[in-house]
Amino acid sequence: MHILITGGAGFIGSHLADHHLAKGDQVYVVDNLSTGSIANLEPFRGHPAFRFAEADILHWNGLTQAVAWADRIYHMAAVVGVKKVLEDPVAVMATNMTGTERVLRAIHAGGWNPQVIIASTSEVYGFNAKSSFAETDHIVLPSAGRLRWAYAVTKLADEFLAFSYARKYGLHIVVVRLFNTIGPNQVGHYGMVVPSFVKQAVRNEPLTVYGEGTQTRSFCDVRDTVVALDSLAGCPEAWGEVVNVGNDQEISIRDLAERVVQRADSNSPIHFMSYKDAYGEEFDDVTHRRPVLNKLKALTGFEPVWDLDNTLDDLIERASAKIRRVA
Ligand code: UDP
Repeated sequence: MHILITGGAGFIGSHLADHHLAKGDQVYVVDNLSTGSIANLEPFRGHPAFRFAEADILHWNGLTQAVAWADRIYHMAAVVGVKKVLEDPVAVMATNMTGTERVLRAIHAGGWNPQVIIASTSEVYGFNAKSSFAETDHIVLPSAGRLRWAYAVTKLADEFLAFSYARKYGLHIVVVRLFNTIGPNQVGHYGMVVPSFVKQAVRNEPLTVYGEGTQTRSFCDVRDTVVALDSLAGCPEAWGEVVNVGNDQEISIRDLAERVVQRADSNSPIHFMSYKDAYGEEFDDVTHRRPVLNKLKALTGFEPVWDLDNTLDDLIERASAKIRRVA
C-alpha cells in the first residue's frame, strides 16, 4: 500500500511510518518540522520504501501529486497541545483548519478515493463534567472565548470538514478522537505529563503536579494507537464515522507521579503547583478524561497490548539509557 502521512515527523506520525514500513508498505511523510522532529525519522532514512518532504501543509506544492499516489492518508499535521495554543493561537487556528481543508480539497479534486484518517482529539469533549466519553456525548465548551479552548475548536472544525466531504462526496474518511497517547519519542516540551515525569524521575529532579493531582487521565501506548488507526482506516463500516481511540485504564495525576518515581527507583520529590502558575492564566483543566471504547472495539476488535506499567518501564529504561550514553 502507498501511505501518505502528513505531520509524519511528529510523535504519532512517526510511529505510523514505522508500523507501515514494517508491514512492507511504501511511506511518504510530509512535515514542516515545527513540532515534529527529524530525529524521529532517522531510523527510516535510506529505507528504499521511505520518502520525506520537508514542507508546510498550508503551502506544499507536492500535495496534489502525493494525494493521487496514496491509497491511504493519515492527516496528522497540526499544531498540538494546550500550552502551544496559549503561546501561538493564530498559528494553531491556521494550520489546524486551513491545512485540513487543503488536504480534503486535494483528495476530492484527485478523483480517487483513498482511505483517510483525520486526527481529532478528546479535547473536543470540552469542559464536560462527565468522567468518560462516548462519541454520542454532547460537547460542552465555555462561551467566554478563553483561548485555552481554541485547540478543541480547530479540531471540531476539522471534524465537521471531514463529515462534510464524507457525506457530500462519499470520501472514505474516519475521524479519530485521540485520547492521551504516550510512548517512545514523545517530548515534554509542551507540557505532556508522562515524558515530563519520566525525564524528571530518572534525573532525580522534582516532579510537578498541577492542581491537586486528583484529575485523572487514561493513557494509551502509541504502539497500540497505530494498530487501531490502521484497522479503522481499512474498515468500510467506519468510513464517515467518528471513533474514540485510546485505552480506558485510568489513573490520577498524583498517583501517576508516585508510580513513575517508584518504578524509576528515583529520589525525586513530588511538588504541587497551581494551574495559574503552571499555565499563566485562569485555566479550566479537564477533571476526568476516559474514553468509552465500545465503538472502536465493535468496529475493529481492538484490544490494547500495552498496559501503563509496561509503557512506563519501557520509557524509564529508554530515558535512563540516554543518560548513561551522555555520561
Ligand atoms: N500535568 C502535571 N504536571 C506536568 C504536566 C502536566 O500535573 O508536568 C497535568 C495537566 O495539568 C493535566 C494532566 O497532567 O491535568 C495531563 O496533561 P497533558 O498536558 O499531558 O495532557 P492533557 O491535559 O491534554 O490531558
